[in-house]
Amino acid sequence: MRSIYSYSLDELTSKMLSLGQSTYRSKQIFSWLYKKRVTSFDEMSDISKSFREVLKQEFDFFLPSMEHIRYSKDGTIKCLIKLRDGEMVESVLMHYIYGYAVCVSSEVGCNMSCQFCASGILKKKRALTSEEMLGQVLAYDHLLKEQDPNLRVSHVVIMGTGEPFDNYDSVLSFVRNINSPFGLDIGARHITISTCGIVPKIKKFADEHLQVNLAISLHAPNNELRNILMPINKAYPLEDLIPAVKEYTEKSGRRVTFEYIMIKGLNDTIQHAKELVELIRPTGGFVNLIPCNPVVEKGFLRSDNKDIDSFHRFLLSRGIKSTIRKEFGSDIEAACGQLRAKYE
Ligand code: SAH
Repeated sequence: MRSIYSYSLDELTSKMLSLGQSTYRSKQIFSWLYKKRVTSFDEMSDISKSFREVLKQEFDFFLPSMEHIRYSKDGTIKCLIKLRDGEMVESVLMHYIYGYAVCVSSEVGCNMSCQFCASGILKKKRALTSEEMLGQVLAYDHLLKEQDPNLRVSHVVIMGTGEPFDNYDSVLSFVRNINSPFGLDIGARHITISTCGIVPKIKKFADEHLQVNLAISLHAPNNELRNILMPINKAYPLEDLIPAVKEYTEKSGRRVTFEYIMIKGLNDTIQHAKELVELIRPTGGFVNLIPCNPVVEKGFLRSDNKDIDSFHRFLLSRGIKSTIRKEFGSDIEAACGQLRAKYE
């Protein structure tokens, strides 16, 4: 049986038509699911009893469950989410001044093998379905509402375990669902997809005409270093990636953010900053500097604060907008690059 949460509004509308219902029926059900948050068809009081029985034969209300919750002293929450087949992923809730953001995982494990990242230690077992991603957001949304019914998840970043563009269709249907005014109604500009740079999918994404934010994990300003840090660069080197980003910005009118981990002694000198400026200037993109988070098995060290500051100031002095990412939840291994599926 398929979960009712796995349907986008369009899909549910087709399904309702196939069951002899009017198109209005799917909006009515969406409103029960996402506005009133009921978890059974019997609570949908404006649907006839006989049709409720039909619905029960067609759908269940499966959502992934929160298995193991850890609380950071900075207010970040990380939990292990159990999927229908028992596989586990991690996701994180962060509290910003402007709202609550969930960092969603898109795959169980990851095949991209970025050298500094914990998520790839476990190879990809499978991609997540759109409702499994939605389930991560809803689980946190329910947790917030238990504290205070007025709280809600306002932002979503697809930056957990997995490569979202390796699971393109499900990620896009998830994004459309949470963005729908009949669904969770999370604004497109409050949603960010982060990719390690799968060029054909960046091109495809440019034609979706979505206003969501796109972040590119760059981490090195030349092929030599990027080949070592991120093997995906051998398939899609910078001479392909950068024009694809430029094309995306021209088509969508949206600038991308380049994520750049600061790793001590590896990519953090002013010479690297100079190369980075030259490389990305044609795209008009911004830079988000991420002080490298430790992953025990990997051994990379975080750059010294003074080097991060000099790098940052250099970018700004060359007219490249740049920020240093605020760190969340590193005491519970919930920070960037630390997600995996681990009980402890
Ligand atoms: N696969 C996607 C999304 C997951 S990673 C991607 O590559 O973008 C989310 C971000 O965390 C990426 O920018 C990733 O490179 C970064 N990251 C991975 N390991 C990290 C670490 N040890 N310290 C800081 N950031 C890390």
